[in-house]
Order: sequence, then C-alpha cells, then structure tokens
Amino acid sequence: MGIGDRFSHQGVAQLRAIVKANQTGLDISPVWNKSNREHIYVHSHPADVRKEADAAVAALGFSGKYFVDADHINLGTVAPFVETADFFTLDVASFIGKESPDAEVKDFVASCSKYMGRLSIPGIDHPIEVIEELLVVIAGKFLAATKQASEIYSFLKEKKGEGNFITEVSMDEVETPQTPVDLFFILKMLADKGVPAQTIAPKFTGRFNKGVDYTGNVDQFAREFEEDVLVIDYAIKEFGLPAELKLSVHSGSDKFTIYPIMAGIIKKYDKGLHVKTAGTTWLEEVIGLALAGGEALETAKSIYTIALGRKDELCAPYADVIDIDDSKLPSAEEVAGWSSEKFANTLRHIPGHPDYNPNLRQLIHVGYKVASEMGTTYTDLLKKYADVIGSCVEENIYDRHLKRLFNL
Ligand SMILES: [Zn+2]
Repeated sequence: MGIGDRFSHQGVAQLRAIVKANQTGLDISPVWNKSNREHIYVHSHPADVRKEADAAVAALGFSGKYFVDADHINLGTVAPFVETADFFTLDVASFIGKESPDAEVKDFVASCSKYMGRLSIPGIDHPIEVIEELLVVIAGKFLAATKQASEIYSFLKEKKGEGNFITEVSMDEVETPQTPVDLFFILKMLADKGVPAQTIAPKFTGRFNKGVDYTGNVDQFAREFEEDVLVIDYAIKEFGLPAELKLSVHSGSDKFTIYPIMAGIIKKYDKGLHVKTAGTTWLEEVIGLALAGGEALETAKSIYTIALGRKDELCAPYADVIDIDDSKLPSAEEVAGWSSEKFANTLRHIPGHPDYNPNLRQLIHVGYKVASEMGTTYTDLLKKYADVIGSCVEENIYDRHLKRLFNL
C-alpha cells in the first residue's frame, strides 16, 4: 500500500490505518512514496521520508515489512534517493516511442518466434494474433523504454547490491493506455534485459484523476485489469520474472468505483496488488484544519483562495491527471462564509454527499505548493491540531480505502 504525505507529519496516522487492517488477518506492507517533483515543491529531501517511516514504525512497534519508495525517478534524479530508499519506481514513460536501432528491433522480433501465430494466455478466452508487424509496432513503442529501465536498474544494482531493493517500472504518466498484449511483451523485454520487476505500473484505460473517483468505461477497465493479472501470471512462469510481480495502480487513491472490481480480481487469482496514494492524505490535513476551526479554518480557507488565484500555474504540471470544471469552483467570497462542517464536507470525498465538490477537491489537491510556501505557519498548525488531523488521515485510509479494497 503506497502511502506518503507531502509534509511528513502523518506517518503514524497512516500506519495506524494499516495496523488496524492487518489486525483482521491481512498482510499489508506500507510503502512510503514521494516523487522528486513533490520533494522539489515542498523543499524536502529523500532522507526525510526514511526518517518519517522509521519513526512511525518505531512509534507503533510495527513488525511487518515496510519500504521507502523513490517514486518516479530516472537516471537524472535517482542519485539522492539511493541511500535511503529501498523501493525504486523507474519512470520510463518519456522513453515510450523513442526509436531503437534496427538491429535491436530485429533481435526482439526474432526472440518472439515462439509466440508468433495464435498466442493463448491461460485464462484469457480469446487468443492473440501475433504477427511480425505487431511486434515491430510494440518494439517501436517500448524497446527504448525498457532499455532505459535496465540502465536505471543496473545503476541501482551497482550502488545498492542485487536483491536489496524492490524494482517497480512505471509507464503510467502517458495519454495512451497499454493493452494487456503490450504488457505481455513489455514484461518479456524487461526479463530479456535482466530487470527483475516486482511491480509494474501501466497506464490503464480511463482517467485516474488526482484524489477523485475513476472516470471511464468501468467494464472495459475490469476486462483489461483481469487480463493484465493473467498476463502477469503467465509472464512470471514464461520469462522467469519474480513470483511476487504485481500490478501497481498509480494515482490510486479515491478510485472507489473500481476498488471492488480490483479486489474481486486479485482475490479470484490470489494475486497481490500495489496501490499508490499520497495526495489524499494532504487533503485530510486541510479537512482536519477546517474542522479544528478558528485560525486553522482560516488557513484552510486561505489555501483554497490562494490556489484559486493561481489555478493555472498550480494545475499546469498535473494537466493529464485532473479535470476541473471552473464554473463549479466556489468563489473566495462564498468560501469565506463557510463553517467548519461546510468546508470539510465540500472537500471530503464522500460519494453522493450533497456538499462534496470534486472540483474544489482537485484544486486543493494540486495546491500543496501554497501550504508549502506558508512554511512553519502551516506546519505549526499541523502540530497544534495533530489529533484531529490524525483521525481524519486514519479514517480516510482505513474506512474509505482499505475497507473497500479488501472488503473489510
Ligand atoms: Zn505515478
């Protein structure tokens, strides 16, 4: 379970939710993830995440496995994470579609002779027609990206030693989804290049907007997700990839519509799953501040008001993962008159609640830079109102996420 938080104050509260779920017999490992981009915006350092995770684990006497994820790193950004992370998300999305030398494409096509014709993957009822043209197209899309993954992996293997870290490969931050057939050959390329991927984050069909529910064709998602799970199962045996290889769902928080579908499929095939959340916890901080009232409520309101004024700037880096309807954003004047409950109910993700506003929620989601700029004014409030905020964080991870993901 990927957890994480922008300002590194909610480690214990998040872990409490996981401990509570594990008390029901589950074995969930928390993974504290933070991307280079987040570190830049809040001026934090990879070592801070390690400190937060270790402190939370010590505070609760957590005895299970836990990890610190260098999220979305590449060769240029990985170095500062090497020492303190033990989980690396190799982001190779920007290499998708980059040209590879002809000889490499030819070698790949030749190495697939076994799969030419009708490829049947156990559990998938329709065979896949594999012809040379398809393989050339797939090589054109993914050969360079998987080669890049192997270069980052080799760097890490050299620095950290084989087997001392988890390898995730991510291709999710792109517009075009990867199909189960793409995934099959991506996994083959990774195995060929010696990348022992333990989790893989494809771009799934549909929109995975930040902090709000899934939008897209739910039936198609369900079909593709199930086929992806079957492809992975087959790829483990066929290519000798790690047995625990699992799907990773990025921007995974708040996708309440598809949680029962994912839960049903992983249960059906007895598979693992990695779900990344992080920003949803920052939103709970703002909800907690609103509920605390007084100066804290005023700060929550200022975060919104400032974010509203700087909407274009804050939204730009997240254009592919948010959908805000400007006409549904309340004005600063309107929000100024809100009570604690009205603010919290508008921001909190309770599907069907009459006050819930996903537009305001997404804007605040990308507005953490505003809180960061408030410096200690913000973080002092996190300390002062730690109890109320901590309950919000725990309730969100446990009641709204883990309960739905694991049918608790
Ligand atoms: Zn991601």
